[in-house]
Amino acid sequence: MSALLDVQDLRKTFGGGRGIFAGRRQQVRAVDGVSFSLARGETLGLVGETGSGKSTLARLVLRLIEPSAGSVRFDGQDVTGASASALRALRPRMQMVFQDPFGSLDPRMTAGQIIAEPMATHGVARRDMADRARELLSLVGLRPAMAGRYPHEFSGGQRQRIGIARAIALDPALVVLDEPVSALDVSVQAQILNLLAEIQSRTGIAYLFIAHDLAVVRHVSARVAVMYLGRIVEIAPRDALYGAPRHPYTVSLLSAVPHADPVRERMRPRIRPIGEIGSAASLPTGCRFHPRCPRARVVADRGAETVATAGTHLPRACVQDDPALTMTGGDGHLAACHFPNEG
Ligand code: SF4
Repeated sequence: MSALLDVQDLRKTFGGGRGIFAGRRQQVRAVDGVSFSLARGETLGLVGETGSGKSTLARLVLRLIEPSAGSVRFDGQDVTGASASALRALRPRMQMVFQDPFGSLDPRMTAGQIIAEPMATHGVARRDMADRARELLSLVGLRPAMAGRYPHEFSGGQRQRIGIARAIALDPALVVLDEPVSALDVSVQAQILNLLAEIQSRTGIAYLFIAHDLAVVRHVSARVAVMYLGRIVEIAPRDALYGAPRHPYTVSLLSAVPHADPVRERMRPRIRPIGEIGSAASLPTGCRFHPRCPRARVVADRGAETVATAGTHLPRACVQDDPALTMTGGDGHLAACHFPNEG
């Protein structure tokens, strides 16, 4: 079966300038050659720190911003090359839920109006809209009678439920969720994650679920991709990624996830990358993770051929060769590391 979403070598570069300004402004390669696919009804978790390019990628997938290169195909249709009218026809089937349930809803509109707005834009008959809005409120666990209330009358979790109701109003095949629970309390997060899973099992919607930590996407994702400085550095079925991560960046993100059991929590090894995430305006040579990579230091100590860099010696391959995302197991587990099996 063909993929619902197929993303190939997608790129977005900001800045750089033109004409006499060329070269004066730094180019930022926010998304730098990303490829992945998503099946119907599947959830792909996409995880990375602030600055990894994941939110830019979300907007590129829906063509809310224009890509610099690469392609997005949705249900066999070319999204990147679509005309304005073709894109308008695709919009109802590809929706987005934003991070901030406080800022993403118009305070002057009632919940019913907010949910009905996409239906009005796409020609749903007025008499059907109010009924559908009430039906959607009940689907997301709110009372239909709340349709007349304004956003400030709802809690953060309830507002995110309204955002989800609005996103699914036109029966989309894909919803891109950009950090949908990161502004919410932990107990409310669990309710929203359960709601998303329930909606998916009823409707067969596919989710691209963006988060900055691996704990959030674990229970909702069939596969997980990890982004670092504009690239996917590891992608795998969920259990393979959490059980045997291959990229040292994923290993460090996982080591930051606390255990519920206090004994295991005390014994939890913490593997931290060195320093802060770099800048997409000045990418390191070779592997873009090498200035922060604990594994590169271990491999160098074990006798790999090294070169001097930034006051230390690191494996030549890490400093000079950009590792491609390659298969590291027979289960669709890919990682971009020259030493995927080193501890
Ligand atoms: Fe680390 Fe080298 Fe692997 Fe990059 S290629 S992640 S620097 S070990």
